[in-house]
Amino acid sequence: MGCYTRFGVIPVQENTGLAPMTTLGVGGPARRFVEAWSEDAVVEAIGMAEDAGWPLLVLGGGSNMLVSDEGFDGLVLRAAVGGVTFTESVGGQTRVTAGAGVDWDPLVAECVRRGLGGIECLTGIPGWVGGTPIQNVGAYGQEVSDVIDSVRAYDRQRGEVVELAAGDCGFAYRTSAFNTTARGRYVVLSVTYVLEANPSPTIGYPDLARAFKGRAVPPSLAEVRDAVRRIRASKAMLLVGGDADARSAGSFFKNPVVDESAARGVDAAAGTACPRYPADGGVKLPAAWLIERAGFRKGTRRGAVGLSSKHTLALVNRGGATASDVLGLAEEIQDGVEARFGVRLRPEPTFVGFTDDVMERFGAVSAVPSVQGPR
Ligand SMILES: Cc1cc2nc3c(=O)[nH]c(=O)nc-3n(C[C@H](O)[C@H](O)[C@H](O)COP(=O)(O)OP(=O)(O)OC[C@H]3O[C@@H](n4cnc5c(N)ncnc54)[C@H](O)[C@@H]3O)c2cc1C
Repeated sequence: MGCYTRFGVIPVQENTGLAPMTTLGVGGPARRFVEAWSEDAVVEAIGMAEDAGWPLLVLGGGSNMLVSDEGFDGLVLRAAVGGVTFTESVGGQTRVTAGAGVDWDPLVAECVRRGLGGIECLTGIPGWVGGTPIQNVGAYGQEVSDVIDSVRAYDRQRGEVVELAAGDCGFAYRTSAFNTTARGRYVVLSVTYVLEANPSPTIGYPDLARAFKGRAVPPSLAEVRDAVRRIRASKAMLLVGGDADARSAGSFFKNPVVDESAARGVDAAAGTACPRYPADGGVKLPAAWLIERAGFRKGTRRGAVGLSSKHTLALVNRGGATASDVLGLAEEIQDGVEARFGVRLRPEPTFVGFTDDVMERFGAVSAVPSVQGPR
């Protein structure tokens, strides 16, 4: 049981288990933990951590995070700022502003119910609004960067709340300034999305195109959303209570972007052409394809961890797994894929509480870089 102390007006809980706050369900405790329900509380908690010299980890829905078995020796700030507003503007667009702590999928459902398009394919992605710009979430032909107008955030370097236009967020495939060049600098408070009323549906992605093949009338937003949810459920990429494959952090590896000669090397090693898609800086190869052809089948099991029985990219906690168990399988896969194809996969979830040595070995991104504030 954590005990409570009080700094200013914010209750700080001590030695709070982080595993239950992540979808993967592994890892040790937070030395200190604060749940902040308002912008003021978020800013106060950040100030408290900076004054005390505690490392700061911002946590949302915990669906893209691997916490070490040692836990986190600093302050974990759960940015639970709520509130959603819909503002119609001329030209059939609606600005949707949601607090960082708003649950993402119910927001998608509400937008679809209102006939607002642009995020219907992003249904079923777990986590909170504040997490969506961090890795520029995307699925089935849409990315949040397509519809983000601005991000309101606390800038730890300048010590003030700022509004960042989408163009300043450095969005690219599964990255943004928030998890690259300005990592740790901003704490997202709310996000404004601009959605179109009754747009043409986005059904170009192969799985979706197949779902609506032969349809004379274009599907509605609700039908597209339902189809995405069915496809996601078939891959255990929808968090459904009781589904043994759902205790994961989603895709554990990013699709690697390589140059054309490396892609040809993959074709040669596989003895067949690897599917590839254009990407900034080269071509993107499907990590799941590489993993399967390196000999790791769906359902592969190593003790308490394994690969999802429905999706090769998801590492699953089969019950009672530790972070070390997860790392063990992740490294086996990285080594296996590299040995076979000469491509090193990199993890997609952010890593929390690991040593620099581990971070380097896995090519992982830390959720907690140090930031020099104005204090
Ligand atoms: C079953 C499953 C399916 C998934 N499918 C997809 C998918 O299709 N596409 C996709 O892109 N992702 C997918 N994900 C990954 C994940 O759901 C998203 O990245 C999600 O947006 C993470 O949000 P979160 O609130 O859970 O963030 P967390 O896991 O809590 O945090 C992730 C990172 O964001 C930072 N962060 C969180 N909130 C804030 C904030 N307010 N301010 C600053 N930094 C913050 C954290 O410090 C951390 O570095 C999936 C995950 C699971 C478990």
